[in-house]
Amino acid sequence: MVKETIRVYARVKPLGKRQETAGRTGGGAGGDLDNDETSLSSLEVIMPHDLADGFVNNKRESYKFKFQKIFDQEEKQDVVFDSIAKPVAESVLAGYNGTIFAYGQTGSGKTFTITGGAERYSDRGIIPRTLSYVFNNLQKDSSKVYTTHVSYLEIYNECGYDLLDPRHEASRLEDLPKVTIMEDPDQNIHLKNLSLQLASNEEEALNLLFLGDTNRMIAETPMNQASTRSHCIFTIHISSKEPGSATIRRSKLHLVDLAGSERVAKTGVGGHLLTEAKYINLSLHYLEQVIIALAEKNRSHIPYRNSMMTSVLRDSLGGNCMTTMIATLSIDKRNIDESISTCRFAQRVALIKNEVVLNEEIDPRLMIVQLQKEIQELKDELALVTGKQRTSELSQEELLQLDELIETFLQDNDPDSTLDVGADIRKIKYCFLRVKQLMKHSKMSEEKLLSQHLPEEKDIGKEAAEEELKKLKEILQQRDNEINILVNMLKKEKKKSQNALFQLNAASCGTTVLEQSLSLNLDESQSPSCRFSLKEEKDFSSSVHRLPFLSRQTGGKMSLGCQEAFEVFKRDHADNITIEDNKLLLKQRFAEAKHLGEKLNEVRNRINHLKGEIIQRRIQRAALAVSSPSEELNTLDLVEEKLRMQMEEEKKSYKEMFGHLKGLKIEIEHLQLLMEKLKMKLQKDFEVWWSQEAINLQV
Ligand code: ADP
Ligand code: MG
Repeated sequence: MVKETIRVYARVKPLGKRQETAGRTGGGAGGDLDNDETSLSSLEVIMPHDLADGFVNNKRESYKFKFQKIFDQEEKQDVVFDSIAKPVAESVLAGYNGTIFAYGQTGSGKTFTITGGAERYSDRGIIPRTLSYVFNNLQKDSSKVYTTHVSYLEIYNECGYDLLDPRHEASRLEDLPKVTIMEDPDQNIHLKNLSLQLASNEEEALNLLFLGDTNRMIAETPMNQASTRSHCIFTIHISSKEPGSATIRRSKLHLVDLAGSERVAKTGVGGHLLTEAKYINLSLHYLEQVIIALAEKNRSHIPYRNSMMTSVLRDSLGGNCMTTMIATLSIDKRNIDESISTCRFAQRVALIKNEVVLNEEIDPRLMIVQLQKEIQELKDELALVTGKQRTSELSQEELLQLDELIETFLQDNDPDSTLDVGADIRKIKYCFLRVKQLMKHSKMSEEKLLSQHLPEEKDIGKEAAEEELKKLKEILQQRDNEINILVNMLKKEKKKSQNALFQLNAASCGTTVLEQSLSLNLDESQSPSCRFSLKEEKDFSSSVHRLPFLSRQTGGKMSLGCQEAFEVFKRDHADNITIEDNKLLLKQRFAEAKHLGEKLNEVRNRINHLKGEIIQRRIQRAALAVSSPSEELNTLDLVEEKLRMQMEEEKKSYKEMFGHLKGLKIEIEHLQLLMEKLKMKLQKDFEVWWSQEAINLQV
């Protein structure tokens, strides 16, 4: 950034043939344009006393103003251009903004200086000469690519008009496209509707200048006095870039022909002139306000917005611009006051410092191309150094290695442990990405686990309940089975006991076999040795046919006579009494056994009944345990206990009776054996007798 004060030049218009000089200006010997010790030139305006006719406030005779350079009446256009415009044009070509504006009263040579005179080619002004200079330089400089546009704006009565509108030739200023001011958030001024015409060469640019000047001239009418009341701003826009560079330099050169700076002096009472005169053109007043504000130190607000002209020239005044002012002076006697005003204005302008910045921008599209190229170059360089071709992707092997490193790092509880993958940015990026993925994954699975946890708990409860139910069902089934077995057993027992009863009953009839198979813990009676049978001795005669003797004697069948004989023999036999006694005893014993059997049956029925009660009791308690599984099942049942005790009593008496019955059986069997012996003896005795009798009969 370069801080530069606005350069201020003065140009004195040659006097017309009939004009008389009002002051003395000029350079060289004898002139009043003298060179100070400094590089600046000073202009001395001397107010002759004879001219102090009341037209100006004549308290001083001499006024001295300092300028960068003062151009005398004789100075030609080429000299003015070389001195004033060429340096600005050069800096514009270098990428800085530039402004040259002409300020002075109407007829002082502003248009002549900026645009030039129409009569001679040598009268060409700053604009055509600058265009020529710029294009010549652009053509010479092949190191950069330049693009040049021009615009031509006329501001009249606070309205902007595009003088380069190619569509029609305007007969009035109002027919031209209206240009308005737009301000962006960064407070940059944009001119809407001002066309930027591409000018590829000097000829095209000059044609555009001619077009604009024609429009400007045609639009001027005696009524609007456009040439004196309007400001014209011809702008050359140059953009440049070096081939292959993304940086673009953009610069603007404003060549400004301001409205006439003349003022009206108000005539006070008594014909006295007031010191304060007013600009005919209000925007020049605002221009002065801006310049005063800029000249003041610590002034924050600069009133640029008050007029369109100050807005457009904002950068040129105290902004980013190399600005030059040309004060045009016509120093005939009539205009001496205006000349002094112009010079005073110029002195103020000279105090303004601008901050000139190189206007460089980066074109994003060009930047991408450039960066891509740079990346490729760096890759090539890296490949050269490492000896490996670096691709943007990591190899599968490298990825696996990184995964392992990450895993080790994550599992390492040492707070000082680090994940070192070297200076390869691809690897570092991959590690961060991987850790992020792992974090996401673990978070997701946590959530998943959490969401699954509750239903699982329910399932566990349900499963447990089902398991419990299953167990209980199994217990119930076991109980049922037990009950069924017991019921079956009971049925069997009943059947057995009925059989036993039947047998007992049968035994009571003399032929009962009491089989001890009761399962009611009658252990001592279960031994096979305890099995016994009572065979009732039927009719005594039944044993006769078993007598071989009698069968042989009677041809298999005992004759009635023989039978009669035997009956008689038997009756008379001495043993017959014993037999008859035994027979009676046996009958008694059988009766006793029958009675005992009946009693035994009753006791066993009672035992069975008690057992049934106990089973019933157990079933009830099992059902109770299913419906309300609690301590009750484990406690002792008093009712069952009582039933058990009763049953034990019954068993005891049963055992006693059974023992008695067993004794009876032994006695009966013994008696029967005795009787068999006696019968056998009686039969033998009969046979002997019968034989004796038969022998006796034969004899
Ligand atoms: P302005 O634009 O300030 O109103 P002009 O540039 O139109 O004044 O000048 C008025 C007249 O003076 C024009 O005819 C112009 O040719 C002539 N003139 C101005 N300056 C010079 C000069 N330096 N040399 C010769 N003629 C000039
Ligand atoms: Mg003019």
